[in-house]
Amino acid sequence: MEHKHDNDCLFCKIIKGEIPSDKVYEDDWCYAFRDINPQAPVHILVVPKGHIGSVGEIDESNSNYSAKCLEAIAKISRQENLGGGFRVISNCGPDAGQTVMHLHFHVLAGKTMGEKML
Ligand code: 5GP
Ligand code: ZN
Repeated sequence: MEHKHDNDCLFCKIIKGEIPSDKVYEDDWCYAFRDINPQAPVHILVVPKGHIGSVGEIDESNSNYSAKCLEAIAKISRQENLGGGFRVISNCGPDAGQTVMHLHFHVLAGKTMGEKML
């Protein structure tokens, strides 16, 4: 499988193994690893192996990556015993506080998450 990479992108470097990460899951489409600054006892980042900037850049040509990432999240929830529940968040753009411009899904679990925005 050939994936598009951005040489200046932190998560592309993590996917290629140029920067070490604590891997949780990997398949042909997605890579998942533990967040370096966890906001919950379980905080996993699930990223597509092809470079997509954010949810705002999903289109017909690349939406299969997102579907595969969500499929991976369901698998990870079983692998990591997240039966108590988990939250999936994707920040998009400056108002949402996105800091790494490679699409990623935060998977948060391991505590009761009090502050609901929705
Ligand atoms: P954002 O703020 O863009 O939604 O999320 C970026 C996330 O990437 C943050 O939660 C941050 O802690 C995490 N992060 C940034 N740099 C690294 C890194 O080098 N390794 C890992 N594992 N996580 C990182
Ligand atoms: Zn990237």
